[in-house]
Amino acid sequence: MTKDRVRDAASYVQRAVAQGEGGNEGNRAKKAVLDFLKAHPEITGLDHLLSLGGYRGPKAFHDEDKTEMRQYQRALLLIERTLGGKTDDQVAVIKAHFVSTTGTKAQTETNRVVIEIRSVYSRWRDKHARDLKPRTVGEPILAPSFEYATSLAKNNIGPAFARASQLLTHAWMGIMRVGLDANEKKRLEKWFGTYEKGRYDKVRATLKSVFDVVCAKSVTVYYRGTGAPSTALENDTPDFLRNEGALGLGPTTAYGYVYPGVTKTGEWHVFLGKAFFADASRHGRDSLSGVIIHEMTHLTKKTQDHVYGAGPCETLAKEVGGPAKAVENADSYEYYCESFQSSVTTKFG
Ligand SMILES: [Zn+2]
Repeated sequence: MTKDRVRDAASYVQRAVAQGEGGNEGNRAKKAVLDFLKAHPEITGLDHLLSLGGYRGPKAFHDEDKTEMRQYQRALLLIERTLGGKTDDQVAVIKAHFVSTTGTKAQTETNRVVIEIRSVYSRWRDKHARDLKPRTVGEPILAPSFEYATSLAKNNIGPAFARASQLLTHAWMGIMRVGLDANEKKRLEKWFGTYEKGRYDKVRATLKSVFDVVCAKSVTVYYRGTGAPSTALENDTPDFLRNEGALGLGPTTAYGYVYPGVTKTGEWHVFLGKAFFADASRHGRDSLSGVIIHEMTHLTKKTQDHVYGAGPCETLAKEVGGPAKAVENADSYEYYCESFQSSVTTKFG
């Protein structure tokens, strides 16, 4: 009996959606409801919930308008309990407000309920479409310690990652054009020294590895700025790092740090310090996005900090023996990527 009533109600979900959006969409709606129930075996008691009195099949009331109204009302309860995300109690409230009537009044109620069903479905579909959309920008995850950060600091993280993604995208296109475009060759040589195939390959591979993470993966960021928690109890450093002695505890004056020596496949953890929140700009050189790129090169390719700053990085690229160090120097990558800033459009809130 339960199965009949649920299947029957699902068929009326199908009809309601099909009336507005065609048969295919109606079929999808019915399938979505039934799939939801399969995936949520904990939902029980639907038989009772969908009971509107006198259910004895399609012609229970000897009044076609009332029978039809009841079928759609039942369908609305079903879709609210499934795709609508409502609880049993919330659905019971909707049910308590249903009118019981006949004739043209029943037709009016049917029209109202059909529109409700369609709107529950389209809300679910929109949300689902967002969930399924492939991500082009890696989304940073803010660790619990960010509750100690100002809202400005928090709000800067998303745009900083989005801008880092754009810088990396342009840097990637730039590095691929080095053989075709004299300006791109000049740009490469400014930060990494005279062109040489082996070094070029190394720069390209490093950029690609950072691009792949920042543009597509989730990076977890930890607040280590002013007021960051310094008790072990509140330390949100992941266990696998702590087990290796990487405490990551308390505020630091640095821009940021990572633990390249202790990694877990597919996970990316970056700790951001006082200088990141106080000194780094949103645009230009030494930017928030640049710090993210800098730290990420440490993580993906174990780059070094041979020299810091734009001037020393340029000098390093020109020195005898310098280019070999430049291609493994984190700041050199940061400045190379930041040199593409004029191509970037990210807006900060
Ligand atoms: Zn560094």
